[in-house]
Amino acid sequence: MGKEILILGAGFGGLEAASILRERLDDSYSITLIDKNDHFIIGFSKFEVMFGRRTAGQVKSFYKDLAHEGVKFVRDTIELIDLERKKVKTRNHTFGYDFLIVGLGAELAPEATPGFVEGGYEFYSLEGAERLYPVLDKFTAGTILLSVFGKPYKCPPAPFEAAFQLHDFFTVRGVRDAIELKMLIPAPAPMPNAKGAAEQLRRRFRERNITLLTEHKVTGLDPVSRQAHIKGREPLAYDLFIGVPLHRAPEVVRESSLGNGGWIKVDHRNLATEFENVYAVGDVTQIPVGDRAVPKAGAFAEAAARVVAADIIYKITGQDRPMPFEATGVCFLEFGGGQVAQVSANYLGGPKPESVLEGPSQALRAGKESFEHDRLRRWFRQPNGESYG
Ligand SMILES: Cc1cc2nc3c(=O)[nH]c(=O)nc-3n(C[C@H](O)[C@H](O)[C@H](O)COP(=O)(O)OP(=O)(O)OC[C@H]3O[C@@H](n4cnc5c(N)ncnc54)[C@H](O)[C@@H]3O)c2cc1C
Repeated sequence: MGKEILILGAGFGGLEAASILRERLDDSYSITLIDKNDHFIIGFSKFEVMFGRRTAGQVKSFYKDLAHEGVKFVRDTIELIDLERKKVKTRNHTFGYDFLIVGLGAELAPEATPGFVEGGYEFYSLEGAERLYPVLDKFTAGTILLSVFGKPYKCPPAPFEAAFQLHDFFTVRGVRDAIELKMLIPAPAPMPNAKGAAEQLRRRFRERNITLLTEHKVTGLDPVSRQAHIKGREPLAYDLFIGVPLHRAPEVVRESSLGNGGWIKVDHRNLATEFENVYAVGDVTQIPVGDRAVPKAGAFAEAAARVVAADIIYKITGQDRPMPFEATGVCFLEFGGGQVAQVSANYLGGPKPESVLEGPSQALRAGKESFEHDRLRRWFRQPNGESYG
């Protein structure tokens, strides 16, 4: 009798798990990947859209072009994860499973910050980035507030990258001197957990004349008077407000006994949940490490998926005992002026969590480009049927 491996969410985690399992298991194991979208996008390509360097259409990779033909893709919205009956209900179907991998990512909650939907912009969704570009394109003078509302949020360096790229964007257009750029973060320092990051970032902010306001938690916006309310401080006026929305676990996860109202807790060694043969990977999980947590980033989602695939293969074949999850990965950071830095992290593999900023340099740009290229080539064929070369 064949076995069913069901993967919920075709992001970094889901795509990587599906690819490895398909390569390693024979056809008696069916692998089904479900996602509500028809396409995948690399997180950092939202900057390409936000700054008008590429269109939304140019950054999408479509699931109809999955590289592994033996992975069945179903486009549908998952509405119920029923762990007792081992069933997953989507809008149109019901699926059973022998193994379940949940990689449903994080949901953005812009409405959780009063006034933000009406008065602000974001670049964490593709639609948000698309909406923001024409606004930036027309902006020639005034005050821009760029704010992170709270933790956890995907890719800790991303908001700082936004700041540096805003500076470059307006400099090239010759209007930077007429624009005041202020960044507000609730933390006492920018990326305090990554060694070397805070000093580098602060220096770059000073050089670029971007005001960095730490311990500034924006609690809401007044879109009429264009004021941002800040916890325990005077409000700040803005002409354009760009924020990183609060994140939460997707509704279907919060409402299941996997999430119990929040993120999924897993055994950090193999990403197993408390339910038999049910795993969770990526942004949808919360993995505490001392007073921190494994960051939400594609690199960690993918690393987790490799461990889960190995664990399942070991359960099935008894071969290749898997290595524990080390939470290692790299996040890139656009530093402006064409330079790229990278934050390399190992959260669970050593005696204490390690996270170090390297660069910035022109040379690291090649690493960022191959990060994107390698993943797309591994997971997708080109629409004409060829592999990405
Ligand atoms: C601006 C920006 C820059 C970034 N830069 C980097 C970087 O340099 N390096 C890095 O490692 N990471 C980066 N990230 C973060 C990275 O994109 C995410 O952490 C990563 O996508 C998480 O992978 P995942 O598989 O956990 O979830 P996702 O990739 O978010 O995938 C989850 C999938 O689940 C689907 N889904 C959710 N709910 C349902 C449902 N009910 N029914 C059906 N489908 C559903 C979604 O459609 C989605 O496709 C960046 C993010 C942003 C926003």
